Amino acid sequence: MGILEVQNVNKRFGGLQALDNVNLDVEEGSIHAIIGPNGAGKSTLLNCFVGRLVPDTGTVMFNGNSLLGIKPHEINQLGVSRVFQTPEIFTDLSVLENVMIATFAHRDGAFKLNAIDPVRKEVDIRDHAEATLLDVGLQDKRNMVASSMSRGDKRRLEMAMCLSQDPKLLLLDEPTAGMARADTNRTIDLLKELAEKRKLTKVIIEHDMHVVFSLAQKISVLAQGHVIVEDTPENIKGHPKVREAYLGE
Ligand code: ADP
Ligand code: MG
Repeated sequence: MGILEVQNVNKRFGGLQALDNVNLDVEEGSIHAIIGPNGAGKSTLLNCFVGRLVPDTGTVMFNGNSLLGIKPHEINQLGVSRVFQTPEIFTDLSVLENVMIATFAHRDGAFKLNAIDPVRKEVDIRDHAEATLLDVGLQDKRNMVASSMSRGDKRRLEMAMCLSQDPKLLLLDEPTAGMARADTNRTIDLLKELAEKRKLTKVIIEHDMHVVFSLAQKISVLAQGHVIVEDTPENIKGHPKVREAYLGE
């Protein structure tokens, strides 16, 4: 049993079958990549894991809990965080403030229950946010206004916002999209480091094969809403169906 188990998921938008009987089995602690051409349904699938979309049929189980029919913040409380395709950060706030807000949003429920002293709470959240910035290498930029950061650093900040919530499962939708090669390589290194430091499962949607083959232990190939193959990078590379559907050969 994987930490994330997706079975027979279907999603239709009007006349378009965006997801067609999708199955996915993500092993705990692994990096699982989802690849496929534009419009294959990759983002739609991720949206079904975070409560932004509800599949028409099928099941999505995370750590023994169904993720269907519960609200996005409840899914987040269960330990699922997501890096979006376009960074969702508070551009007028500082880097540190952004991470503090993400930490606070995740912890709010727990804090209310414990009725912790608000001053201690802020110190606690600040310490935790600072530690997370250190983890992603943004500690020197913590007082910068988020809008003035480079594209790569904004992505890194978004990653810090997710990590500050101590997730069990991190979902990344094209984390290197629009990045120059140097930033892409820094992101690969960061994800590798995180894999060593934290017991964290990652599902990554990625179009850059260099990134996919550097990171993933398992790859699912999606084409026209259907998983045509799920296998190791070695087996995916030479797979005729993949070359046909994805590489256009
Ligand atoms: P990918 O992320 O693989 O590029 P998407 O999941 O974004 O693909 O989209 C899959 C298909 O579903 C595309 O044809 C897209 O136009 C369509 N689609 C995605 N979201 C919606 C929506 N909310 N309403 C209608 N069609 C959508
Ligand atoms: Mg997409």
